[in-house]
Amino acid sequence: MAAVTPYRRFQLLVDAVAEEAGVEDPVLLERIKTPERILTVAVPIRADDGKMRLYTAYRVQHSSARGPYKGGIRYHPAVTLDEVMALAAWMSIKTAVVDIPMGGGKGGIVVDPHQLSEHELEALTRAYADAIWRSIGPLVDVPAPDVNTDSQTMDWIADEYRRDSGQNAPAVVTGKSLPHGGSRGRDTATAQGGFDVLARAFTLTGNTIAGKRVAVQGFGNAGSHAAALLANAGATVVAASDSSAALLAPDGLPVGVLARHKAEGGSFIDLPGISKAAPGAELLADCDLLVPAALEDQIHAGNAHAIKARWILELANGPLTAEADAELARRGVTIFPDILANAGGVVVSYFEWAQNLHHESWTGEEVEARLAMTMRTAYDAVAQLAAQAETTLRTAAYTIAVKRIAAAIEAADPKPAGRAAPETASPVPA
Ligand code: NAD
Repeated sequence: MAAVTPYRRFQLLVDAVAEEAGVEDPVLLERIKTPERILTVAVPIRADDGKMRLYTAYRVQHSSARGPYKGGIRYHPAVTLDEVMALAAWMSIKTAVVDIPMGGGKGGIVVDPHQLSEHELEALTRAYADAIWRSIGPLVDVPAPDVNTDSQTMDWIADEYRRDSGQNAPAVVTGKSLPHGGSRGRDTATAQGGFDVLARAFTLTGNTIAGKRVAVQGFGNAGSHAAALLANAGATVVAASDSSAALLAPDGLPVGVLARHKAEGGSFIDLPGISKAAPGAELLADCDLLVPAALEDQIHAGNAHAIKARWILELANGPLTAEADAELARRGVTIFPDILANAGGVVVSYFEWAQNLHHESWTGEEVEARLAMTMRTAYDAVAQLAAQAETTLRTAAYTIAVKRIAAAIEAADPKPAGRAAPETASPVPA
């Protein structure tokens, strides 16, 4: 049997909540399940060896029903159109769950950026921006960083957009560096939003983060900041991984040392003095809380049975296959789903966009307080529906999102004619 792809997984979830969300019209349902626009572009660059190279890249614009398309750009050799379609659709769901006035989109380039020099990376980013600039814009589609892209990537895109369009419009992308119009708190936003959700859930159920044993998969933007926040709150990080190795330390890893090593461009495999295993071992560590913060489909039918965690905070997009999701839910594991748990990134991206459009600059405290309020409101609504409908947080979050997207689509559709044409209409003169 063919595996269920991430995009198909999204569609099946939408189907599953359609009735509860009040979406009865099959055409409306199909529209929620179908991307509005798919761009595939061929991106040529001249490499450092003087030869031309060609890359395949995508920008998928899934839904603009609630506002401009919003979503990151990923550089990875395993990028596929299906993956970008799923990531774009999850953005539409996510922006609806946290109720910000934006839609969903995503981009990707099929490339291993670690094989490119800084000069080649800049050339590739600018060439990609040239290829898609007519389809993006502050009020149209607003990209942001994702796996293997960062504030430098966004600064290059904003600059290239300025050259191509003749408009100095920093709001065309978010996740920029502070001097180029970035927002305070954007770097830590994804982890902070996940932390806010967890803290709220634990407070409501009489739990504490202090004393919990945590395993983190992926030590990039989302994972490294999550590890730091959880350690600061008194948790012990017993396992952490990057794509080179899993680090295991039942008495706790030195999170600050790991973060500095990664910030200097190091890989975990090179870190001396810490017990190592192949990536994937961290998922099976003896822990209370598991934080997947790498890529899709990492927890699947083959390893779900060996997961020991009682809580899973999905900072990665789509880290669980449908089979793993069902098995873990059946076992009573509480899963804070990606479309809620990692929405902090897009919430602060929205704050950055709003600051740019209003020529404002908010303090770090202001950003943090607004983020906490947004995440808490979203979590409370999702948790309340989940309890009421006796379902999972994921199903409840999808139900809320699909309802909001459907309402926005319907509000914008042409209304049916007020009255039927009279049967005895005068014949049209010849
Ligand atoms: P990143 O490039 O900063 O970091 C990714 C990390 O994952 C790296 O440490 C990499 O070595 C590691 N990794 C890759 N494959 C791995 C494997 N098989 N095992 C263990 N580690 C592995 O990316 P990021 O921005 O932190 O994104 C990570 C995840 O979070 C993605 O799913 C992304 O879509 C999601 N996310 C990111 C943001 C954001 O604001 N950056 C927002 C929402 C969701």
